[in-house]
Amino acid sequence: MTQPTVEADIAILGAGIVGAACAYHLTRRGLKVALVDRAMPTAGTSGACDGYVSISSKKPGLVMAMAAESKRLYPEVVADIGRDVDYRPCGGLLIVEDPASLDELEERAAGVRSYGFDMDYLDRPGMLALEPNLAPDLHGAFRCPGEAIVSPYLMTLGQVARAVDRGAATLWEADPTGFEMAGDRIVAVDTTRGRVRAEQFVFAAGVWSAALGAMVGLDLPVIPRRGELVVTARAPGIATHYLMSANYLLAKADPDAVARSTDPLVRLGHGFCMEVNAQGQCIIGSTRAFVGFDRSTTPDGVAAIVHEAVRRLPALAGVAMLRAFGGLRPYVPDKLPIIGRSGRIANLLVATGHEGDGICLSVVTGEMIADLATGRSPRLDIAALTPDRFPPLDRQAQAVAAA
Ligand SMILES: Cc1cc2nc3c(=O)[nH]c(=O)nc-3n(C[C@H](O)[C@H](O)[C@H](O)COP(=O)(O)OP(=O)(O)OC[C@H]3O[C@@H](n4cnc5c(N)ncnc54)[C@H](O)[C@@H]3O)c2cc1C
Repeated sequence: MTQPTVEADIAILGAGIVGAACAYHLTRRGLKVALVDRAMPTAGTSGACDGYVSISSKKPGLVMAMAAESKRLYPEVVADIGRDVDYRPCGGLLIVEDPASLDELEERAAGVRSYGFDMDYLDRPGMLALEPNLAPDLHGAFRCPGEAIVSPYLMTLGQVARAVDRGAATLWEADPTGFEMAGDRIVAVDTTRGRVRAEQFVFAAGVWSAALGAMVGLDLPVIPRRGELVVTARAPGIATHYLMSANYLLAKADPDAVARSTDPLVRLGHGFCMEVNAQGQCIIGSTRAFVGFDRSTTPDGVAAIVHEAVRRLPALAGVAMLRAFGGLRPYVPDKLPIIGRSGRIANLLVATGHEGDGICLSVVTGEMIADLATGRSPRLDIAALTPDRFPPLDRQAQAVAAA
């Protein structure tokens, strides 16, 4: 039987939270969108992660500026989605264990404040007054009242649903098999569910972006960086803020220091973080490791997560652990996401490589892609994020990817 052809103004390949946000914003601008996933929404990282909508976990610079814009946009987008996505402005506490890290954290706090968000240091009594279940030997914490959490799963599905309300076509289990090109433009993509013709295309395939890019000769060096998480039984009242320790920031920002360390905990890329979801369960993380596309959990990783969590929050010792899972962060070696129009394929936009920040940054990313697709300037200068910063792939790599 002949497969149908879908016609659209713009086709998005990848329906994780980033592709979903692109679909949401593009349909809001009135474009006819086709959202294509080789599996389905939330099949990838957006279905296996935490939901911090956080600015204090970002390094000062462009990524922090994007987080600020995303956080400002989030409440309005959530309201417009019109479905429950478990968005809660619960505030965050960044725990300080080692006073030696205070200067660096103060610098980060100054960055956060410069975007209009509060981040103030609390000494130990101040910290314990806010979160009495924290261990009394912790040094103190930065209170970040503007921080929020969301269900990544519901936020992805909610944006897809809102895009469908506005006329988006969806193709699930539609694996791209090839592209029809005309000069430097993509005319259509052939998938296992039929052909999609569009004026413009967006690649938003998360950790699978390198393979997708290679199909059209683009190097999108996105590498999977696994993170493990533990989910507990309900623990009502155990914490009201989301909690994150300063060692989480080190594990995130400096993979070389992690690799060089002789401390087994640091080598796991461990950094403590915990949120309480809408059901009252604790989601506790996490580790960071480059292990290819292996999403499995490890005894060492899970043991470290549990042990380090109980050390900081002793009351957790009495709470049952339900399960553990792993997800793959889309990591780019220069530590910046890849967002922008390709200079090599004129009608292609790319939105990928958000590492551990994609839930937060997806909203502003979707808006930026909608700006670029409709000829407007994004609200921030994102020249540094261009997909053209990587050299073109050679023909041989292209042939291997296509085989
Ligand atoms: C343990 C962990 C904790 C995290 N915590 C947070 C957090 O608290 N806050 C935060 O902001 N971020 C967090 N992140 C990061 C965040 O989850 C990711 O950055 C984000 O989910 C990436 O979304 P994405 O849409 O780019 O990728 P994905 O969600 O992986 O979506 C990509 C989609 O593309 C599809 N696809 C693949 N290949 C093709 C193809 N060839 N054609 C069509 N479709 C294709 C896949 O099926 C998939 O559905 C965390 C990540 C992990 C692993």
